[in-house]
Amino acid sequence: MADDDPIWEDAPDSSSSSSFFDRDRHIRFLEMMYQLLPSPYQSQEINRLTLVYFVVAGLDILYALDRIDKEAVIHWVLSLQAHPKNEVELNNGQFYGFHGSRSSQYHLTDDRVHEQVAIPNGSHLASTYCALAILKTVGYDLSLVDFKSLSRSMRNLQQPDGSFMPIHIGAETDLRFVFCAAAICSMLKNWSGMDREKAKDYIISCQSYDGGFGLIPGSESHGGATYCAVASLQLMGFIDKDILSKNASSCTINVPLLLYWSLQRQAQDGGFQGRTNKPADTCYAFWVGGVLRILGADKFIDEGGLRGFLLTCQSEYGGFSKFPGSLPDLYHSYYGFCAFSLLKERDLNALCVELGITAIAAIGL
Ligand SMILES: [Zn+2]
Repeated sequence: MADDDPIWEDAPDSSSSSSFFDRDRHIRFLEMMYQLLPSPYQSQEINRLTLVYFVVAGLDILYALDRIDKEAVIHWVLSLQAHPKNEVELNNGQFYGFHGSRSSQYHLTDDRVHEQVAIPNGSHLASTYCALAILKTVGYDLSLVDFKSLSRSMRNLQQPDGSFMPIHIGAETDLRFVFCAAAICSMLKNWSGMDREKAKDYIISCQSYDGGFGLIPGSESHGGATYCAVASLQLMGFIDKDILSKNASSCTINVPLLLYWSLQRQAQDGGFQGRTNKPADTCYAFWVGGVLRILGADKFIDEGGLRGFLLTCQSEYGGFSKFPGSLPDLYHSYYGFCAFSLLKERDLNALCVELGITAIAAIGL
C-alpha cells in the first residue's frame, strides 16, 4: 500500500493523447494482463494474488467481468488457502489464511521437521485480503471458505498494542495489516478474528500532529497509511455517517485536522501527493480521495484538476502510470480506475471505498 517504485525506470513517454477516459483500451489492457503478465512482474511472483486482484477487481470497475473465466479464478484462489491438518495444528500459533502464490506453498526440507522447528505455512494477511476480495468480486459465497480456521488463527497476529503482523512471526506491524484484518473480518461478516477496541486505539496512536496518519505511531503522515486508518475505522463501525458535522470531541480521531491534511494533498497540477512536498502520483487520487469520500468531504476536491492530472497518466497502451509519461503498471492502473469511479465517470461501477472493491461486489449481488 505504501508508495511503490515503478517497475520500469526511465520509460519512454507512453501517455495517451486522449482527453477522455479510454474504457475500451483499459479493458483490453487488463485482458492482456489476465492472459499473460509481462516479464518485469517476475520478481513479484510471491504477490501473484495481489496482481490478480488488480486485474479482476479492475475489470469489475470497468463493467467487464465477463472477460474472465470466473470458475477457474475461484478454483485457483481457493487452492491457495492454508488448512490446518487438525485441531492441534490450528492451535500452534500460525495463521491459516491464503498464500500469495503457488511458490510460497512449497514446504521446507525434511531436515527442519526432524529438528522439530515449526515450519511457517507462508500464508499472509495481505494475500488473504486479496483472495477474499477476488472471491467476493466474482460472486463466490464466502461462507464456503474455511473461515473458522482463518478467523481463529488471525487472532494470533494481533499484537498487544492492537496492531497486526501479517504472518505469525518475524515481520513488521503497521496500519496496512490492521486494514487487511478489518477488511477480512468485514467480508467474512465475522469479527472474532480481532479485538476492535485494541485496533482502534492503535489507529488513534498513529494520527500525527498534522492530522494525517503514519504507518506506525510517530511516523510521517502518508496517504496510504491514512486510507488504512480511516477505512479500518469505517469498517469497524467507528465513523459516524455525518462525522463532519459532529463536534471534534465526540469523534475518536481529530477530524478537522485530518480533513485539512487530506485536502492539502491535492497539488497544483490537480493530482494528489502521498506526503507533503512530494510529486502527485496516480494512486493517491484513490488513497486520499477515498479518505475524503469516507469523510463525506469529496465535494471539496477540485475534480476538473484531478481528472486532468489523471488523464496525463493514462497510457496509450491502456492502464495508468504512476507519473505522467511513464509506462503503466497494474497497481497504478487499478487505482486510476478507482479514482475515475470516485469521479463518477460514466459506465464505471461505483466503489465500496473502505473495502477496495465495487459496491456491487461488497454487498454480494
Ligand atoms: Zn503510487
